[in-house]
Amino acid sequence: MSRVRRIYAIIAIVAVALVGSTAAVNYYYPIFQSSSQKIKVLATFYPVYDYTRNVAGDRADVSLLVPMTVDVHDFEPTPSSIQSVSTANVLVYSGAGLEPWIPQIVAAANNPHLIQVDSSQGIDLIQVPPQFQKDNRAVDPHIWLDPVLAKKQVDNIVQGLNKADPSDQAYFAANAGAYRAKLDLVNSEMVNATVTVATHEFVPFHVAFGYFAKEYGLNQTAVFGPFEDSPSAQDIQNIETVINHDHLCYVGFESLENTSVPDQIAAATHARPILMDPIEGLSIHDQAVGKTYLIKLQDDINNILIALNHVGPEFGC
Ligand SMILES: [Zn+2]
Repeated sequence: MSRVRRIYAIIAIVAVALVGSTAAVNYYYPIFQSSSQKIKVLATFYPVYDYTRNVAGDRADVSLLVPMTVDVHDFEPTPSSIQSVSTANVLVYSGAGLEPWIPQIVAAANNPHLIQVDSSQGIDLIQVPPQFQKDNRAVDPHIWLDPVLAKKQVDNIVQGLNKADPSDQAYFAANAGAYRAKLDLVNSEMVNATVTVATHEFVPFHVAFGYFAKEYGLNQTAVFGPFEDSPSAQDIQNIETVINHDHLCYVGFESLENTSVPDQIAAATHARPILMDPIEGLSIHDQAVGKTYLIKLQDDINNILIALNHVGPEFGC
């Protein structure tokens, strides 16, 4: 059926429905597409963008709202953000308060047929410690760093794509299944590896690994809080005390943040800086060498396991 005929068909169906019931004002119709017109999906930041691309395959044009190299915590929407939302069929966001500007840009975009996917739906959210709560934000948004929760995010994205393009449900389900299997592998590795670790303590740069730590029975003591901020002199002093007291050998740094503070902490303790990346974007270097969310997560797991297995004076710490 041509696109024009499909549109006439939709109009006819809606007209019949309205004649049949004058109360039928909230009718729903899917976004029909010809083979030459893919659904347009807008994903807010890098991890949900990567999940969506893997699920959507060649059946959608997936674009990214927060520029790849911008830390999502630092992002402020622009008029072009609203323009992108106004022309999208589906908006995928991470949720759990990561993108507090979502209601504002959706309202401004005035796109009544927009399908919104809150990828955190159905996930048990955890509170951030009181000392890190800020601007009435008390929920930890960093769900994507736990591969088990990432699978739930993928499932939510599948549901949104199915609504926009019901004819490709089987294709999306197959892609999602393959992606979930990769997340299962990462999870299994971490479950097995944490059975024998030397310590359960690790020091990322900011409080990004709460869900990850909960999943694997670990404890993060970060340099500073979960929202956009920078560490105070007291934060730095506190973390140096923890590192010295617990004889920890590593302090985390991030790919999109200046490394001067982790370097300073390393210089003042026996710890060495190591990448523990919250994957809140993708640096130019990471893009150039072909990193993906899954590769970055594997890098994090490798490095966190190094930190968990190197502790104490025998390692010079
Ligand atoms: Zn963060």
